[in-house]
Amino acid sequence: MPISRRELLQALGAVAVFVLTGEVGWSTMRDVNSQPAIAAPPAPGGDVPKEQHQWAAVVDLRRCDGCTYCTDACQTTHFLPKEMEWIKIYEVQDTNGNRFFMPRLCMQCENPPCLKVCPVAATFKSSEGVILVNQDRCIGCRLCMAACPYEARYFNFRQPPRPPKSFDNPMPEFPVPQRKGTVGKCVLCVHYVDQGKLPACVEACPMGALYIADLNTRVMTNSSGETYEMSRYLSENDGFRLKEELNTSPRVWYVAGHGQTIEGQHWS
Ligand code: SF4
Repeated sequence: MPISRRELLQALGAVAVFVLTGEVGWSTMRDVNSQPAIAAPPAPGGDVPKEQHQWAAVVDLRRCDGCTYCTDACQTTHFLPKEMEWIKIYEVQDTNGNRFFMPRLCMQCENPPCLKVCPVAATFKSSEGVILVNQDRCIGCRLCMAACPYEARYFNFRQPPRPPKSFDNPMPEFPVPQRKGTVGKCVLCVHYVDQGKLPACVEACPMGALYIADLNTRVMTNSSGETYEMSRYLSENDGFRLKEELNTSPRVWYVAGHGQTIEGQHWS
């Protein structure tokens, strides 16, 4: 009998709950690429309390072809104008002259400089570790934009078009519509993830290059349904984070590819 992706995620999510509670060990399911040592996906939504998730992301640069479907999906989902690229695709050139694409979203830093400089506590960290902005509090001072080393924040110079009424219910987890004079950024689609859905960018990626991950259940999954045990995947594929030296502790990991060197990269 066919099974929907949502049913699959929920079923696998139950395995993750067992892992969390210690009732069973890691699952040994196999993914579509037949790589070993995979486990349950990050149990989005379902019966697991929100606080038991700590969301993160993994970007496999070997797969990104720069199509920008992720950017388009994010902008459509959040009713953003073209210039607001909460996930932005950079074309990068390494020291050997190799060119590749690098999606940049908010790194959901464990130690976020943007949060520290906000004078009105408009930026805060959710119980799931997602950095959010309360538009009701934001005074548009833009100190957070200056503090973010990843250029992941955007100022609303103008009021975006109003979305249909059913979407017109702004809250930090789903800040739609954006408000003129405030700062916006990627929220990792936490409003979707809590409902058992993938973030819009992850869902839209035709290459399966983007993964949503949960640091608690230690699993990651993409739009193709490929699911891996996160730490093993990262260690076997030399995962890295951007600007580690700044001690921001980003929650977005990258996997390099194409033989490029990451040191000395030039972002265009
Ligand atoms: Fe804040 Fe920038 Fe880190 Fe996102 S990437 S949490 S906006 S400092």
